[in-house]
Amino acid sequence: MLDRFRADLHIHTCLSPCASLDMTPARIIERAEEAGLDIIAITDHNSAENTGPAVRLARERGILVIPGMEVTTSEEVHILALFPSEEPLHELQAMVYHGLPEREGGVPEFEQVIVNEFEEVEGFNRKNLIAATTLTLDDAVREIGRLGGLAIASHMDREVFGIISQMGFIPEGTAFDALELSPSSDLQRARSIFSEYTQFPWVRSSDAHHLTDIGRRWTDFYIQEPSFEEIRMALRGEGERELRIM
Ligand SMILES: [Zn+2]
Ligand SMILES: [Zn+2]
Repeated sequence: MLDRFRADLHIHTCLSPCASLDMTPARIIERAEEAGLDIIAITDHNSAENTGPAVRLARERGILVIPGMEVTTSEEVHILALFPSEEPLHELQAMVYHGLPEREGGVPEFEQVIVNEFEEVEGFNRKNLIAATTLTLDDAVREIGRLGGLAIASHMDREVFGIISQMGFIPEGTAFDALELSPSSDLQRARSIFSEYTQFPWVRSSDAHHLTDIGRRWTDFYIQEPSFEEIRMALRGEGERELRIM
């Protein structure tokens, strides 16, 4: 039996320098429930230090939190990396941190905030999280796959930091599991402009940086239960599983 589960797979927390301070794991989950979402992914820029609290909080609620990260490749392409658990995500984080500089002049007070599930500030990340990493697009997609994750091209139609604006095209053989359409773009228009990329499944998400953004766009997955594996199977179209976007 397949059921519909609504997913927003691209949400930043207050760890991302560009996200608002009230994007704490607890408030994000509260807001996701209000928005009627069944599945969310936490995807901060180049870091995964706020995913743990969200995953733990979600266990007591009727919502699945997928631990993830939005990696900036050396070509300045944003890629969503989603994982079934936190272990492989932390392996990716170690690779990402390896080539990521500290922020020059230090991090301003109350930016890049690490928060626990009790809404307490645990610290501040000192890396320049918005910078490009030393991982190339090829490296990033390959490593995400090797670690058992899903690699999704973020906002592929955006004028900055999208695969097409940065590279001009999607290099042949890049093993993306899906492409993500920007929240504000028109689906019909995108389908005609990017018709050569319809061999990939397309997802939509909010790319939320503020609480009110959460759930403004979503992907409906028709799957057996809300789980990472079911999402993977839906992206591959296995066993009549499918996804729909609007
Ligand atoms: Zn992005
Ligand atoms: Zn983003």
